[in-house]
Amino acid sequence: MIPLAKKASPAAIAVLRQATALRPKRKKASDGLLPSAAHVKQNPNSDHNSGFAVDITHDSVNGVDCTIAFEKLKADKRVKYLIFNGKIWSPDRGGEGNRDYTGPNKHHKHLHISIKETCGYDTSPWFPWLGEITVVNKVKAAVRPLPKKKEIK
Ligand SMILES: [Zn+2]
Repeated sequence: MIPLAKKASPAAIAVLRQATALRPKRKKASDGLLPSAAHVKQNPNSDHNSGFAVDITHDSVNGVDCTIAFEKLKADKRVKYLIFNGKIWSPDRGGEGNRDYTGPNKHHKHLHISIKETCGYDTSPWFPWLGEITVVNKVKAAVRPLPKKKEIK
């Protein structure tokens, strides 16, 4: 089992804060950082345990559209792997190829991002294709509560 962190990594928190600042009306129902006890039991080696993973809710209407993010984030050097809509991608498998994701949750409602352990403090922009964050929206996003502990779904 991967030991449980008390706090998510700054890079993982930045994903949700930046997304909210860029798309304040986005859905957040499937957002997640640290795992619930049930999540740990089902998936004891999840990167959520160490705080180096984040789930962001798919929202093609008000953003973030995870179909687009899944493709764009392949260029981000912080990414260890991505899971969305039944596919997994990681940079170590030769770059382009997605594989079928065979885990119990196919990730239709959220994009899972695992972050390399060397990049936990890198909070540079995660969504450069969505434009610049305004100062007002950055302040507003910073005071929003972080998601509750992630349940199995
Ligand atoms: Zn996840």
